[in-house]
Amino acid sequence: MNHPTMSDCLFCKIIAKEIPSTSVYEDADTYAFLDIKPVHPGHVLVVPKIHSRGLQDAQEEVLQHLMLTIRKVARAVTIALKIEGFNIEQNNGSVAGQVVPHLHFHIIPRYPNDGLKHWPGKDFQPEEAEKIAGEIRTAVSVFN
Ligand code: AMP
Ligand code: ZN
Repeated sequence: MNHPTMSDCLFCKIIAKEIPSTSVYEDADTYAFLDIKPVHPGHVLVVPKIHSRGLQDAQEEVLQHLMLTIRKVARAVTIALKIEGFNIEQNNGSVAGQVVPHLHFHIIPRYPNDGLKHWPGKDFQPEEAEKIAGEIRTAVSVFN
């Protein structure tokens, strides 16, 4: 598989200030900036400064700190925009809608009746559920 090098990565360039962005928070390991095409104004992206493509290849310590930054910025967005709720969205792989292959979390402010819809759920057969859950339990045991 062809992984972009850091020098090819849009968000690495944004973190390095080679490409401009509208910053809302920065510390030694994480950066938060406005999405250039917001779902609503105040839609923020939170990224680790160390490149990883997605959630699966990110380091444990990176993720621990990143989640605290997400909480901090989400609290700030909530206060600044006086919103009652928000979505955290994180896409992995182009099939899941990931366009920029540098791990990032969206903080999307939500408003009553704002027209955004959650994805639809499907009915599920109990046998099918047990089969899939068994496969996942076997796979997850590898990761302690
Ligand atoms: P995803 O589909 O999860 O990869 O989301 C990528 C997001 O990055 C989209 O919401 C884009 O609007 C946003 N984006 C792309 N280029 C920039 C940029 N230069 N500055 C800020 N946000 C960007
Ligand atoms: Zn990157």
